[in-house]
Amino acid sequence: MNKNKKILIVGAGIAGISLYRKLRAFGFSPDIIEQADSWRQDGAAICLPANAVLELDKLGLKDELLNSAHQVFDIEYALADGRELASASLKQSPCDKAPFVALMRGKLMEILRAGIDLAEVKFSTQIDSISQSSEQVLVNFNHGGTAQYDLVIAADGINSKTRGLVFPNSELNYSGVTNWRFTAQISTKNLHPVYYVGSDSAFMIYPIADDKVYCYAQIFDKDKSYFNQAAHEAIQTLFKHYCQPVQQAIAQLNRQDIVVGELKSVSQVKAVQQKVLLIGDALHGCPPSLQQGVGLALEDVNCISELLAQMPIEQALVQFESNRLTRIKWVVDESNKIIKLAGIGRFAIGRFLRNLKIKKGGPANVIGWKKLLSEKAY
Ligand SMILES: Cc1cc2nc3c(=O)[nH]c(=O)nc-3n(C[C@H](O)[C@H](O)[C@H](O)COP(=O)(O)OP(=O)(O)OC[C@H]3O[C@@H](n4cnc5c(N)ncnc54)[C@H](O)[C@@H]3O)c2cc1C
Repeated sequence: MNKNKKILIVGAGIAGISLYRKLRAFGFSPDIIEQADSWRQDGAAICLPANAVLELDKLGLKDELLNSAHQVFDIEYALADGRELASASLKQSPCDKAPFVALMRGKLMEILRAGIDLAEVKFSTQIDSISQSSEQVLVNFNHGGTAQYDLVIAADGINSKTRGLVFPNSELNYSGVTNWRFTAQISTKNLHPVYYVGSDSAFMIYPIADDKVYCYAQIFDKDKSYFNQAAHEAIQTLFKHYCQPVQQAIAQLNRQDIVVGELKSVSQVKAVQQKVLLIGDALHGCPPSLQQGVGLALEDVNCISELLAQMPIEQALVQFESNRLTRIKWVVDESNKIIKLAGIGRFAIGRFLRNLKIKKGGPANVIGWKKLLSEKAY
């Protein structure tokens, strides 16, 4: 069904390129545009909880993924001085549905792009404006061309221009958190992921290969003073009182490889406007507290592809919203709550309550993964 319909995918990132693969495998011939002038070089690494791996399996990419990724089996939360707060095994149900892995972001992109020719993607291309009738979407591109589509699927990331065009009042919420990501050469023998929490800062060390770890560091930084500092200096100042494994990772960091960012979140979860559908971060970009960006994006991809293969476009869009929005809203809300919880540690009483919650309940991300893995993705 719908194989002769004209579909445009906006953005060739994780969601867009996966959707292009999947639709092509189902016999569709979508167009795909990307604002960059070639494949983006993504820095640092990415952690993939089991639901992301289940979706990569449906894309036929699980073996390639597991050949390039590092599997982890336990998660620990600890204080900045290294004392354990809580830990959890990923070998127990429902976390044992698929491996939890991590790998370099660039490697994940290489796996998703494999077999797709550069010429298939229209690079340096963006949508300037969109107008819709009940049947079609008329798209004006930045280089002056115009085209009619039966469906436009926006996978243009958290700053989605398409979202702004179809939902004009959809500003992002800023959490006031600055973060840094980098990798470091460290032996990972007997190492499991540890999330160290300080007052209002945090530092994660996650093994991604036999001799490499992925580090994620964050601080509440409303006035952006750390954001505006040289990244390596800010990291060295903020985390100097953290325990030895953190010091070891910081000592190994390569200044050129640090990715700096601010955490933000969509302010509303709205997926469909007539014949325009948002997926991936364009729909549910939020802080990475549950590391659900890729998992949710690939669930979106597999869900909409399967629906489009089975039913008319209008019906597929209604069904997509019905299958997906409750789960997506929960992830966005919960991810923002976990970030707020990290922030209350700047006051002694807040720190006491936060640490007590972690000690009693266990690692916040594992609680979230258990819920997500025990329900249907779509
Ligand atoms: C600090 C941090 C750490 C994270 N860690 C994890 C993690 O460990 N695990 C995890 O699962 N997720 C993580 N995420 C989230 C994850 O990175 C995103 O969810 C994921 O990249 C979303 O993919 P996407 O394809 O929707 O968007 P993107 O990856 O942003 O891709 C969007 C694509 O669209 C293109 N584009 C943008 N605008 C336009 C336009 N107007 N026209 C055409 N093309 C356009 C872009 O160039 C890009 O290629 C993290 C996010 C952050 C901020």
